[in-house]
Amino acid sequence: MKKRRLALHWQIIIGLLLGALVGGLVNRFWTPDTWSSLGVGDAKAFLAGKASEANSGAGVGAIAVRFLSGATQFAGDLFIRGLRFIAVPIVLFSLIVGVASLGDPRKLGRIGGKTLMWFIITTMLAAGIGLAFSNTVQPGGESFVSAAKREELAATQQALAAQRIAAGTQVKAETSVWQEVVNVVPANPFAALAGAQMLQVVFLSVVVGVGLTLLPRSKSEPVVKVCDGLQDAFIMLVRLLMATAPYAVFALIAKTVAGLGLDVLAALAVYCVVTIAALATALFGLYPAFIWLRTPPGNRVGFARFFRALAPAQLLAFSSSSSAATLPVTMECCRDRLGVSDQITSFVCPLGATINMGGTALYQSIAATFIAQLYGIPLGLADQVTIIMLATLIAVGSPGVPGGSIVMMVIVLEAIDVPAEGIAVILAVDRLLDMCRTVVNITGDAAVAAVIAGNEGQLLTAEQAAAQAPNTL
Ligand code: ASP
Repeated sequence: MKKRRLALHWQIIIGLLLGALVGGLVNRFWTPDTWSSLGVGDAKAFLAGKASEANSGAGVGAIAVRFLSGATQFAGDLFIRGLRFIAVPIVLFSLIVGVASLGDPRKLGRIGGKTLMWFIITTMLAAGIGLAFSNTVQPGGESFVSAAKREELAATQQALAAQRIAAGTQVKAETSVWQEVVNVVPANPFAALAGAQMLQVVFLSVVVGVGLTLLPRSKSEPVVKVCDGLQDAFIMLVRLLMATAPYAVFALIAKTVAGLGLDVLAALAVYCVVTIAALATALFGLYPAFIWLRTPPGNRVGFARFFRALAPAQLLAFSSSSSAATLPVTMECCRDRLGVSDQITSFVCPLGATINMGGTALYQSIAATFIAQLYGIPLGLADQVTIIMLATLIAVGSPGVPGGSIVMMVIVLEAIDVPAEGIAVILAVDRLLDMCRTVVNITGDAAVAAVIAGNEGQLLTAEQAAAQAPNTL
């Protein structure tokens, strides 16, 4: 009899829960006293494998713990490295195939225009949801964070904040709108690929795709076939890699939860709850409503169908905090589970992973208003509009990597005359919120892909999608 295997997303959920449990226990019960009982006086040096007098009494127990901790880190890092390995080639090959298979530049203009329009509209709506939540609840008001607590939080994160502010100020100094646009065009396409400059990689792929559509078929076809084959090869690698996802997710989550500062979390509880509630509103309200309203009446994508199809990608986005690393799985989910055509998946998903980040825009707008509230700086209507516009632009420019958008926060804060040092307060909980906003980011990409496919008659019905093979996720 054939053994039934648990579906991969259930395996990932189990990995995630076990990781949270183990990480939580370590966070709660593993204290400096535990280290001393194992003969370790300087845990940091010990874990890093550096010699230290304080650790001379470390025995087999301590070494075993160090091995386990190193192995956990290794498993998580290796998995993320594997996904990142795939991210650049998959954007390159799938966008080339996506654009070239559209066939003529007019079709590209139409589908590209619609895609960009929905990216911008949904991102602005998400930023608006963020503003609505933070203006209503006022998580940074005196009633939730006392002045003393604010100083204390800022002091603990000062060094890290200084680094981020310096990076952000540099980005800002180098930014004029003209320069930003020029920067999208790589001076050297190979440098763009080698440096994983995703906006430039998108540009490169789109123009190569357009170039191919302008060539006679006899010339372009072999090139497109090679790119298509390579795209499939990388997708096959993702399938293999995903088999290890439950273990990797366990490792990633255990490590993150073990390192979370629970007391900081408690101090910023209201801010975290408001942000998560706003992200949940976008995730379970905005996108499902958008996709329901904009898919054709005969083939509407409902809530359950959408989330069932997307679950593996969402779980991975949550565990990895990176929409670029999740891209290959987002594409698999869109095509093989949701029933979006190859052509639209190859075009919309890589573009979306690079420039469409509704969760990030929402987060930027809450964080900026939260910091303004902490400093008691009132924000007028003009400031609120500025926040929505800038949050949307920042979402376009942020790389889809963990913490990718946090340095950009400086740009919003300075535009509304709020001290950039305020970032120090929110850094401590950024990882947790990053995990949540990344889920929203990739959900937005899939929603737009389904809507465009529906419009173009390139979306399978639920039955057809279920019947199509293979579906290994
Ligand atoms: N981590 C996010 C992503 O990959 C970007 C961000 O920091 O907002 O989508």
